[in-house]
Amino acid sequence: TLEKYHHDPTRLMDILIDVQSEFSCISDSAIKQISRGLDISIADVEQTRSFYHFFSKRHTGEFSIFLNTSVNAYMMGRDAVARTFEQEAGIPFNEVTPDGLIGLFDTSCIGMSDQEPAAIINGKIFPNLTPFRVKELIRDIRAGKSMEELVVEGYGDGENSNEDIRAVVNNNIRKIGPVLDPQYRPGDVIWKILPEMSPDKVIAEIKKSNIRGRGGAGFPTGMKWELARQTESDEKYIICNADEGEPGTFKDRVILTERPKLLLEGMVIAAYATGAKKGILYVRHEYKYLKTYLENLIKGAHERNLMGKDIAGIKGFEFDVRIQYGAGSYVCGEESALIESAEGKRGEPRDKPPFPVERGYLGKPTVVNNVETFCSAVKVLLNGADWYRSFGTKDSTGTKVLSISGDCRYPGVYEVEWGFTVRDLCEMSGAVDVKAVQVGGPSGSLVGPEDFDRTLCFADLSTGGSLIMFNYSRDLLQDVVLNFTSFFIEESCGSCSTCRVMPVILRDKLQKILNARGVKSDVSDMLEWAKVLKSSRCGLGQTAANPIVTSIRNFPDLYDQKIRGKDDYDTGFDLNRATRDAMAAAGRLPVNGG
Ligand code: SF4
Repeated sequence: TLEKYHHDPTRLMDILIDVQSEFSCISDSAIKQISRGLDISIADVEQTRSFYHFFSKRHTGEFSIFLNTSVNAYMMGRDAVARTFEQEAGIPFNEVTPDGLIGLFDTSCIGMSDQEPAAIINGKIFPNLTPFRVKELIRDIRAGKSMEELVVEGYGDGENSNEDIRAVVNNNIRKIGPVLDPQYRPGDVIWKILPEMSPDKVIAEIKKSNIRGRGGAGFPTGMKWELARQTESDEKYIICNADEGEPGTFKDRVILTERPKLLLEGMVIAAYATGAKKGILYVRHEYKYLKTYLENLIKGAHERNLMGKDIAGIKGFEFDVRIQYGAGSYVCGEESALIESAEGKRGEPRDKPPFPVERGYLGKPTVVNNVETFCSAVKVLLNGADWYRSFGTKDSTGTKVLSISGDCRYPGVYEVEWGFTVRDLCEMSGAVDVKAVQVGGPSGSLVGPEDFDRTLCFADLSTGGSLIMFNYSRDLLQDVVLNFTSFFIEESCGSCSTCRVMPVILRDKLQKILNARGVKSDVSDMLEWAKVLKSSRCGLGQTAANPIVTSIRNFPDLYDQKIRGKDDYDTGFDLNRATRDAMAAAGRLPVNGG
């Protein structure tokens, strides 16, 4: 493995991924060998290893089963599936069977919200799980079946075409717009349009289109490319952020499978505009099943002279892309954390400035854009900025690809113009009796019917693309807000004290309210503490209180019902409960059931 990566410490992530997948663990002796082979300290290796969810020092089982814990998974029946896994395997979650055959683990959203409950077993996806399917899987594993035999027929060792992938993972494209339009012919912009345009002209057209980053932050794409172009450097990089980790999001998974050539063409255009010669497609670990498929597409692009040297006959224009997989970390979706990770380090966000366009990957100017942004840029050049601006609203031009899931009849991917209302999207996806919609995932807003006429756009409800519908049967505080807050606790990188501590305190307060022990001041306390979180270094900490804050703002009744009749005095101490807990801990039975 070390040879394969030329003993390059910046490829530590790839090395650890290979070791983990071969041995189902990264042992102390492996860490020592890696440290010697890369000439870096054991601490350097260990700190990267310990950061990522899918790296483990202890053996995770010959069949490592990671079952999703997202809100959608629970809504679709995760409890019954998890119980069946435990019963059939004979172990609780976070354990491995004594024979080392099966390991059961929880994991955050795996990008399958349209087909939950879903699990990852040795890097392969198993969607739409039922207790029956779980029994079948465990029986087959015990009977000695291989991974290839476990997955459905047609998937097997193929993974070379999107048909192979679709045989297992349904991509559920429900509404196609101008960006996902299947009439697109890969390479047309590179071969026919780029040779006629200077890099400055490309940037001018992108700026004119007013396209903004589709990952959520909405930074103007043309300006980002221009800044990278203007920064003097011997090397520049283009990075595609395909690390979508926001619970409820899966549109990048669909684009990677259904329109990957569009994405790669967008990266080539960005390279031409900025002068970059190298690119990285950073894909979340959960989409490892796409690896062979994506690698073959990059090979194909080289064969067609869409990558490599003198691309499309343009003298001196060269560009190549490598794929970098993550290893399970939500915060790596933040661009500077993603760069750290691609350099083989812990995915901790950097202080800014400097911004990546000045000092990014390996200290060089780097453009990081979302999958969808690159795809949209191709269409801007193909059809012109004016065409692109004819879609959407004045400030939010073009379209947005949305991942819609939850209580709706047609979960899936919808490409719509900016400016659609929440109500439109409920109707489009067949959602009825909608009590609330989570717009933009946990870091976004939980909105109720009074807000359903608000529009999706940067000036109103901005979103990276995740919309989760909840009907009136759902307990929003228990099933949604508590789950999202726990998610942020799990995913914090821990470097800011605010983000490390505050979400835990907020969750405890919320739990206290859910246990019917809350008082009015608990709610105002939570709103005050949420303000402190805003001073965290990155978006994760800054938005970690959003599920609580937006639910207090939009669903005050839910809190009032739990704390009704209580005044502001609270000792925070329940004598009966404490006595029961103490007796249980001491193994003493209560007298007369008291
Ligand atoms: Fe890490 Fe949270 Fe600080 Fe972001 S806000 S850098 S995730 S501790």
